[in-house]
Amino acid sequence: MITTAVFPGRYIQGPRAMSVLGEELARFGPRALLVVSPSILDNVLPDYLPDIEAALEVRLERFERESSDEEIQRVAEAARSFSACSIAGLGGGKTLDTAKTAAWKVGVPAASVPTTASTDAPTSGLAVIYTEAGVFKRYQFLPANPSLVLVDSEIVVRAPLRYLVAGMGDALATWFEAEACRQSCACNMSGRTGPIAAFALARLCYDTLLQYGTLARAAAAAGVVTPAVEHIIEANTLLSGLGFESGGLAAAHAIHNGLTSLEPAHAYLHGEKVAVGTLASLFLTDRSREQIDEVYGFCESVGLPTTLSGIGLGNVSDADLEKVARTACAEGETIQNEPRPVTADDVVAALKVADAYGKARG
Ligand SMILES: [Zn+2]
Repeated sequence: MITTAVFPGRYIQGPRAMSVLGEELARFGPRALLVVSPSILDNVLPDYLPDIEAALEVRLERFERESSDEEIQRVAEAARSFSACSIAGLGGGKTLDTAKTAAWKVGVPAASVPTTASTDAPTSGLAVIYTEAGVFKRYQFLPANPSLVLVDSEIVVRAPLRYLVAGMGDALATWFEAEACRQSCACNMSGRTGPIAAFALARLCYDTLLQYGTLARAAAAAGVVTPAVEHIIEANTLLSGLGFESGGLAAAHAIHNGLTSLEPAHAYLHGEKVAVGTLASLFLTDRSREQIDEVYGFCESVGLPTTLSGIGLGNVSDADLEKVARTACAEGETIQNEPRPVTADDVVAALKVADAYGKARG
Protein backbone atom coordinates (compact mmCIF):
# COMPACT_ATOMS: atom_id res chain seq x y z
CA MET A 1 0.00 0.00 0.00
CA ILE A 2 1.37 3.43 -0.94
CA THR A 3 0.61 6.07 1.69
CA THR A 4 0.75 9.79 1.02
CA ALA A 5 0.79 12.89 3.24
CA VAL A 6 0.60 16.48 2.01
CA PHE A 7 1.89 19.56 3.82
CA PRO A 8 2.25 23.29 3.33
CA GLY A 9 5.85 24.46 2.90
CA ARG A 10 6.15 26.47 6.10
CA TYR A 11 3.73 27.28 8.97
CA ILE A 12 4.24 30.40 11.09
CA GLN A 13 2.07 31.51 14.02
CA GLY A 14 2.24 33.98 16.86
CA PRO A 15 1.51 37.50 18.06
CA ARG A 16 2.56 40.06 15.43
CA ALA A 17 3.56 37.27 13.06
CA MET A 18 2.52 39.68 10.30
CA SER A 19 5.68 41.64 11.01
CA VAL A 20 7.71 38.80 9.43
CA LEU A 21 5.43 38.37 6.39
CA GLY A 22 7.71 40.57 4.26
CA GLU A 23 10.90 38.66 5.01
CA GLU A 24 9.09 35.35 4.47
CA LEU A 25 7.70 36.43 1.08
CA ALA A 26 11.11 37.83 0.10
CA ARG A 27 12.43 34.22 0.16
CA PHE A 28 10.40 33.67 -3.02
CA GLY A 29 11.71 36.77 -4.78
CA PRO A 30 11.68 40.57 -4.58
CA ARG A 31 8.02 41.26 -5.57
CA ALA A 32 4.76 39.94 -4.07
CA LEU A 33 1.14 40.56 -4.96
CA LEU A 34 -1.07 40.76 -1.86
CA VAL A 35 -4.79 40.00 -2.29
CA VAL A 36 -6.42 41.55 0.77
CA SER A 37 -9.98 41.56 2.14
CA PRO A 38 -11.34 45.11 2.63
CA SER A 39 -11.46 45.16 6.44
CA ILE A 40 -7.87 43.90 6.68
CA LEU A 41 -6.70 46.32 4.00
CA ASP A 42 -8.29 49.30 5.77
CA ASN A 43 -7.84 48.43 9.46
CA VAL A 44 -5.00 45.95 9.92
CA LEU A 45 -2.49 46.12 7.09
CA PRO A 46 -1.47 49.79 7.55
CA ASP A 47 0.17 48.79 10.86
CA TYR A 48 2.37 46.20 9.19
CA LEU A 49 2.96 47.65 5.72
CA PRO A 50 6.20 49.48 6.64
CA ASP A 51 7.75 46.18 7.86
CA ILE A 52 6.57 44.33 4.76
CA GLU A 53 7.73 47.02 2.33
CA ALA A 54 11.14 47.12 4.00
CA ALA A 55 11.64 43.52 2.86
CA LEU A 56 10.23 43.53 -0.67
CA GLU A 57 8.13 45.39 -3.22
CA VAL A 58 4.39 44.73 -2.92
CA ARG A 59 1.30 45.45 -4.96
CA LEU A 60 -2.04 45.43 -3.11
CA GLU A 61 -5.28 44.15 -4.62
CA ARG A 62 -8.52 44.79 -2.72
CA PHE A 63 -10.60 41.58 -2.69
CA GLU A 64 -14.32 42.16 -2.40
CA ARG A 65 -15.75 39.71 -4.84
CA GLU A 66 -16.13 35.93 -5.05
CA SER A 67 -13.42 33.31 -5.46
CA SER A 68 -14.68 32.95 -9.04
CA ASP A 69 -12.81 31.97 -12.19
CA GLU A 70 -13.19 35.57 -13.39
CA GLU A 71 -11.70 37.06 -10.22
CA ILE A 72 -8.88 34.51 -10.20
CA GLN A 73 -8.10 35.46 -13.81
CA ARG A 74 -8.06 39.16 -12.87
CA VAL A 75 -5.67 38.57 -9.96
CA ALA A 76 -3.44 36.33 -12.11
CA GLU A 77 -3.19 39.03 -14.76
CA ALA A 78 -2.35 41.68 -12.16
CA ALA A 79 0.38 39.39 -10.80
CA ARG A 80 1.83 38.80 -14.27
CA SER A 81 1.90 42.49 -15.15
CA PHE A 82 3.73 43.16 -11.84
CA SER A 83 6.08 40.19 -12.41
CA ALA A 84 5.12 39.01 -8.93
CA CYS A 85 7.35 36.26 -7.49
CA SER A 86 4.58 35.13 -5.09
CA ILE A 87 0.89 35.75 -4.38
CA ALA A 88 -0.39 36.06 -0.81
CA GLY A 89 -4.03 36.08 0.30
CA LEU A 90 -4.85 38.00 3.51
CA GLY A 91 -8.37 37.57 4.89
CA GLY A 92 -11.10 34.93 4.88
CA GLY A 93 -11.48 31.69 2.96
CA LYS A 94 -12.52 33.19 -0.37
CA THR A 95 -9.58 35.61 -0.36
CA LEU A 96 -7.17 32.76 0.40
CA ASP A 97 -8.67 30.48 -2.25
CA THR A 98 -8.41 33.21 -4.89
CA ALA A 99 -4.75 33.83 -4.04
CA LYS A 100 -3.91 30.10 -3.98
CA THR A 101 -5.56 29.40 -7.33
CA ALA A 102 -4.16 32.53 -9.03
CA ALA A 103 -0.65 31.60 -7.83
CA TRP A 104 -1.02 28.17 -9.40
CA LYS A 105 -2.17 29.75 -12.71
CA VAL A 106 0.81 32.11 -12.73
CA GLY A 107 3.24 29.43 -11.56
CA VAL A 108 4.51 31.20 -8.43
CA PRO A 109 4.41 30.19 -4.73
CA ALA A 110 1.18 30.87 -2.79
CA ALA A 111 0.96 32.23 0.75
CA SER A 112 -2.12 31.94 3.00
CA VAL A 113 -2.54 34.56 5.71
CA PRO A 114 -5.87 33.74 7.41
CA THR A 115 -7.19 36.47 9.68
CA THR A 116 -9.57 34.18 11.57
CA ALA A 117 -9.09 30.62 12.86
CA SER A 118 -12.52 29.55 11.65
CA THR A 119 -11.62 26.68 9.28
CA ASP A 120 -8.86 24.24 8.42
CA ALA A 121 -8.66 25.30 4.76
CA PRO A 122 -5.60 27.65 4.82
CA THR A 123 -2.96 24.90 4.83
CA SER A 124 -4.67 22.80 2.16
CA GLY A 125 -4.16 22.44 -1.57
CA LEU A 126 -7.90 22.69 -2.08
CA ALA A 127 -9.90 25.76 -3.19
CA VAL A 128 -13.64 26.30 -3.48
CA ILE A 129 -14.68 28.08 -6.66
CA TYR A 130 -17.96 30.04 -6.80
CA THR A 131 -19.77 31.78 -9.64
CA GLU A 132 -19.64 35.58 -9.70
CA ALA A 133 -23.11 35.47 -8.08
CA GLY A 134 -21.70 33.44 -5.16
CA VAL A 135 -23.12 30.02 -6.03
CA PHE A 136 -20.88 26.97 -5.43
CA LYS A 137 -19.27 25.89 -8.71
CA ARG A 138 -16.58 23.27 -7.97
CA TYR A 139 -13.71 22.14 -5.78
CA GLN A 140 -10.36 22.96 -7.32
CA PHE A 141 -7.65 20.49 -6.38
CA LEU A 142 -4.35 22.33 -6.71
CA PRO A 143 -1.14 20.44 -7.49
CA ALA A 144 0.62 21.93 -4.47
CA ASN A 145 -0.20 23.26 -1.00
CA PRO A 146 0.63 26.86 -0.08
CA SER A 147 4.36 27.45 0.29
CA LEU A 148 3.68 29.59 3.34
CA VAL A 149 0.88 29.77 5.93
CA LEU A 150 1.17 32.64 8.39
CA VAL A 151 -1.26 33.26 11.26
CA ASP A 152 -1.03 36.35 13.45
CA SER A 153 -2.70 35.39 16.73
CA GLU A 154 -3.30 39.03 17.74
CA ILE A 155 -5.33 39.56 14.58
CA VAL A 156 -7.23 36.29 15.13
CA VAL A 157 -8.39 37.25 18.64
CA ARG A 158 -9.61 40.61 17.36
CA ALA A 159 -12.11 38.82 15.08
CA PRO A 160 -15.57 38.01 16.52
CA LEU A 161 -15.35 35.11 19.03
CA ARG A 162 -17.82 33.10 16.99
CA TYR A 163 -15.14 32.48 14.33
CA LEU A 164 -12.66 30.89 16.75
CA VAL A 165 -15.46 28.72 18.17
CA ALA A 166 -16.60 27.68 14.68
CA GLY A 167 -12.99 26.72 13.93
CA MET A 168 -13.15 24.37 16.91
CA GLY A 169 -16.28 22.83 15.35
CA ASP A 170 -14.39 22.17 12.10
CA ALA A 171 -11.43 20.79 14.08
CA LEU A 172 -13.73 18.59 16.19
CA ALA A 173 -14.58 16.51 13.13
CA THR A 174 -10.95 15.88 12.19
CA TRP A 175 -10.08 12.93 14.43
CA PHE A 176 -13.45 11.20 14.00
CA GLU A 177 -13.19 11.41 10.23
CA ALA A 178 -9.50 10.47 10.06
CA GLU A 179 -10.17 7.54 12.39
CA ALA A 180 -13.01 6.34 10.14
CA CYS A 181 -10.64 6.48 7.16
CA ARG A 182 -7.91 4.67 9.10
CA GLN A 183 -10.30 1.86 10.04
CA SER A 184 -11.61 1.44 6.51
CA CYS A 185 -8.29 2.10 4.69
CA ALA A 186 -10.13 4.87 2.81
CA CYS A 187 -8.28 7.50 0.80
CA ASN A 188 -7.34 10.95 2.03
CA MET A 189 -7.47 14.07 -0.18
CA SER A 190 -4.44 12.87 -2.18
CA GLY A 191 -6.38 9.82 -3.35
CA ARG A 192 -4.16 7.46 -1.34
CA THR A 193 -4.28 6.28 2.24
CA GLY A 194 -2.71 8.39 4.96
CA PRO A 195 0.39 7.52 7.00
CA ILE A 196 0.30 7.08 10.79
CA ALA A 197 1.59 10.66 11.16
CA ALA A 198 -1.74 11.98 9.87
CA PHE A 199 -3.75 9.97 12.39
CA ALA A 200 -1.48 11.01 15.25
CA LEU A 201 -1.88 14.69 14.30
CA ALA A 202 -5.66 14.24 14.06
CA ARG A 203 -5.72 12.75 17.57
CA LEU A 204 -3.54 15.59 18.88
CA CYS A 205 -6.07 17.97 17.32
CA TYR A 206 -8.92 16.38 19.32
CA ASP A 207 -6.94 16.22 22.57
CA THR A 208 -5.92 19.88 22.19
CA LEU A 209 -9.55 20.95 21.78
CA LEU A 210 -10.59 19.11 24.96
CA GLN A 211 -7.62 20.42 26.91
CA TYR A 212 -7.61 24.08 25.86
CA GLY A 213 -10.98 24.86 24.21
CA THR A 214 -12.71 26.57 27.14
CA LEU A 215 -9.52 28.35 28.26
CA ALA A 216 -9.00 29.69 24.75
CA ARG A 217 -12.60 30.82 24.53
CA ALA A 218 -12.31 32.75 27.79
CA ALA A 219 -9.07 34.42 26.72
CA ALA A 220 -10.31 35.30 23.24
CA ALA A 221 -13.51 36.74 24.76
CA ALA A 222 -11.26 39.02 26.81
CA GLY A 223 -9.33 39.87 23.64
CA VAL A 224 -6.01 38.49 24.84
CA VAL A 225 -3.60 35.92 23.43
CA THR A 226 -2.61 33.20 25.90
CA PRO A 227 -0.86 29.85 25.36
CA ALA A 228 -4.33 28.22 25.26
CA VAL A 229 -5.37 30.57 22.44
CA GLU A 230 -2.20 29.71 20.52
CA HIS A 231 -2.84 25.99 20.97
CA ILE A 232 -6.42 26.30 19.73
CA ILE A 233 -5.42 28.42 16.73
CA GLU A 234 -2.87 25.73 15.90
CA ALA A 235 -5.45 22.96 16.37
CA ASN A 236 -8.05 24.76 14.21
CA THR A 237 -5.63 25.68 11.45
CA LEU A 238 -2.59 23.38 11.31
CA LEU A 239 -3.57 20.16 13.09
CA SER A 240 -7.04 20.07 11.60
CA GLY A 241 -5.67 21.05 8.17
CA LEU A 242 -3.04 18.31 8.15
CA GLY A 243 -5.44 15.88 9.79
CA PHE A 244 -8.22 16.28 7.24
CA GLU A 245 -6.06 16.49 4.15
CA SER A 246 -3.71 13.62 4.98
CA GLY A 247 -6.07 11.63 7.24
CA GLY A 248 -9.24 11.96 5.20
CA LEU A 249 -12.87 13.05 5.53
CA ALA A 250 -15.89 10.90 6.37
CA ALA A 251 -19.45 11.31 7.72
CA ALA A 252 -19.21 14.69 9.51
CA HIS A 253 -18.34 16.73 6.41
CA ALA A 254 -20.74 14.75 4.21
CA ILE A 255 -23.58 15.56 6.65
CA HIS A 256 -22.37 19.19 6.69
CA ASN A 257 -22.64 19.23 2.90
CA GLY A 258 -26.17 17.90 3.21
CA LEU A 259 -27.07 20.59 5.77
CA THR A 260 -25.96 23.32 3.34
CA SER A 261 -28.84 22.27 1.05
CA LEU A 262 -31.30 23.85 3.53
CA GLU A 263 -31.64 27.61 3.21
CA PRO A 264 -32.12 28.44 6.95
CA ALA A 265 -28.67 26.93 7.69
CA HIS A 266 -26.91 29.34 5.31
CA ALA A 267 -26.54 31.99 8.01
CA TYR A 268 -24.40 29.60 10.07
CA LEU A 269 -20.66 29.12 9.74
CA HIS A 270 -19.02 26.05 8.19
CA GLY A 271 -17.65 24.85 11.54
CA GLU A 272 -21.02 25.23 13.29
CA LYS A 273 -22.64 22.88 10.76
CA VAL A 274 -19.65 20.52 10.87
CA ALA A 275 -20.10 20.29 14.67
CA VAL A 276 -23.69 19.11 14.17
CA GLY A 277 -22.47 16.70 11.48
CA THR A 278 -19.91 15.35 13.93
CA LEU A 279 -22.51 14.85 16.68
CA ALA A 280 -24.82 13.04 14.25
CA SER A 281 -21.92 10.86 13.05
CA LEU A 282 -21.42 9.60 16.62
CA PHE A 283 -24.80 7.87 16.37
CA LEU A 284 -24.00 6.07 13.13
CA THR A 285 -21.72 3.64 14.94
CA ASP A 286 -22.02 2.18 18.41
CA ARG A 287 -19.95 4.73 20.26
CA SER A 288 -19.81 4.52 24.03
CA ARG A 289 -21.98 6.85 26.08
CA GLU A 290 -18.80 8.25 27.66
CA GLN A 291 -17.43 9.21 24.25
CA ILE A 292 -20.71 10.79 23.15
CA ASP A 293 -21.05 12.71 26.40
CA GLU A 294 -17.46 13.93 26.10
CA VAL A 295 -18.14 15.45 22.67
CA TYR A 296 -21.47 17.01 23.71
CA GLY A 297 -19.84 18.38 26.86
CA PHE A 298 -17.08 19.94 24.79
CA CYS A 299 -19.54 21.58 22.40
CA GLU A 300 -21.60 22.95 25.30
CA SER A 301 -18.49 24.27 27.07
CA VAL A 302 -17.24 26.30 24.10
CA GLY A 303 -20.64 27.33 22.71
CA LEU A 304 -20.93 25.09 19.64
CA PRO A 305 -24.46 24.08 18.57
CA THR A 306 -25.72 20.69 19.83
CA THR A 307 -29.22 20.80 18.36
CA LEU A 308 -30.72 21.45 14.93
CA SER A 309 -32.21 24.71 16.19
CA GLY A 310 -28.62 25.77 16.91
CA ILE A 311 -28.05 25.96 13.14
CA GLY A 312 -31.43 27.47 12.23
CA LEU A 313 -33.24 24.18 11.66
CA GLY A 314 -35.52 24.09 14.71
CA ASN A 315 -38.60 23.51 12.57
CA VAL A 316 -37.07 21.23 9.98
CA SER A 317 -39.49 18.83 8.27
CA ASP A 318 -38.89 15.12 7.69
CA ALA A 319 -38.77 15.84 3.96
CA ASP A 320 -35.97 18.35 4.49
CA LEU A 321 -34.02 15.94 6.70
CA GLU A 322 -34.36 13.35 3.96
CA LYS A 323 -32.98 15.88 1.48
CA VAL A 324 -30.00 16.49 3.78
CA ALA A 325 -29.44 12.74 4.07
CA ARG A 326 -29.66 12.12 0.32
CA THR A 327 -27.09 14.86 -0.33
CA ALA A 328 -24.85 13.46 2.42
CA CYS A 329 -25.03 9.99 0.87
CA ALA A 330 -24.63 11.09 -2.76
CA GLU A 331 -22.28 9.17 -5.05
CA GLY A 332 -18.66 9.91 -4.19
CA GLU A 333 -19.46 11.60 -0.85
CA THR A 334 -16.98 11.04 1.97
CA ILE A 335 -19.66 9.34 4.13
CA GLN A 336 -18.68 6.22 2.18
CA ASN A 337 -15.33 6.35 4.02
CA GLU A 338 -17.07 5.27 7.23
CA PRO A 339 -16.07 1.75 8.28
CA ARG A 340 -19.63 0.49 7.85
CA PRO A 341 -22.18 1.25 5.10
CA VAL A 342 -24.41 4.26 5.84
CA THR A 343 -27.80 4.77 4.19
CA ALA A 344 -29.85 7.96 3.92
CA ASP A 345 -32.29 6.51 6.49
CA ASP A 346 -29.36 6.05 8.90
CA VAL A 347 -28.44 9.74 8.48
CA VAL A 348 -32.01 10.93 9.13
CA ALA A 349 -32.12 8.81 12.28
CA ALA A 350 -28.70 10.05 13.41
CA LEU A 351 -29.68 13.71 12.96
CA LYS A 352 -32.92 13.17 14.88
CA VAL A 353 -31.27 11.40 17.78
CA ALA A 354 -28.36 13.86 17.89
CA ASP A 355 -30.88 16.70 18.14
CA ALA A 356 -32.94 14.91 20.78
CA TYR A 357 -29.85 14.09 22.83
CA GLY A 358 -28.67 17.70 22.63
CA LYS A 359 -32.07 18.95 23.83
CA ALA A 360 -32.23 16.38 26.65
CA ARG A 361 -28.82 17.51 27.96
CA GLY A 362 -29.69 21.19 27.60
ZN1 LIG B 1 -14.25 21.67 7.25
